[in-house]
Amino acid sequence: MEADLSAIAEGLATVRARIASACARAGRPVDSVQLIAVSKLHPAALIRQCHGAGQRDFGENYAQELRDKASELGDLSDLHWHSIGPLQANKAKYVARWAHAFHALDRLDVARELSRRRQGPPLQCYLEINLAGEASKSGIPPGQAETLLEAVRQLSGLEVIGLMCLPPMATDPESSRPHFRALRELAGALRLPGLSMGTTADFEVAIEEGATAVRVGTAIFGERPPE
Ligand SMILES: *Cc1c(COP(=O)(O)O)cnc(C)c1O
Repeated sequence: MEADLSAIAEGLATVRARIASACARAGRPVDSVQLIAVSKLHPAALIRQCHGAGQRDFGENYAQELRDKASELGDLSDLHWHSIGPLQANKAKYVARWAHAFHALDRLDVARELSRRRQGPPLQCYLEINLAGEASKSGIPPGQAETLLEAVRQLSGLEVIGLMCLPPMATDPESSRPHFRALRELAGALRLPGLSMGTTADFEVAIEEGATAVRVGTAIFGERPPE
């Protein structure tokens, strides 16, 4: 446990330092980028350690895993959960109940269910955009963003604050840059301030292109255990 603890604190410190350098290069204040520690498939005990090292925002992909970890860590009242994976309407109740933000909104039926179930402060939402038209990925084509945005704006309990993307996997972070830039341009056209983009593979490039939230797992926690 002792070794894990310092590994997590070290991973976190390294990522924070890299974010600070990227912000400096881009001429941006360091607090303009929110770090979301993606903890999917890692045990709740590890999240507790990361929280102990000062991290407050955590990302989870699977609604039931989010529910289980949120109730197990319910004593950490300043911890914010970000639901970052695709969601089905029948699991929306868990996200509505436990999440602070939802980064993968791409369906009106899911938005309606989240709205119906949400109590308390509005759920902060990002529309997920499938920029490269990858059939295997979720997200809507850029041309449908405005229509979905207007429809979601009619719903109570949800606040659309930005756009999210997950570019095609690549070994070179530079290959993500045109996608990040396209997301920024689309968000600008829609007058949305939030840009959730960048993972372990490419978060520094994302920051250079205007990311306001980066979703980083492996660089903080190490490799994920198999599903
Ligand atoms: C898993 C995941 C991440 C984090 O990926 P890492 O490569 O571990 O940093 C970020 N965003 C989404 C949507 C994910 O599913």
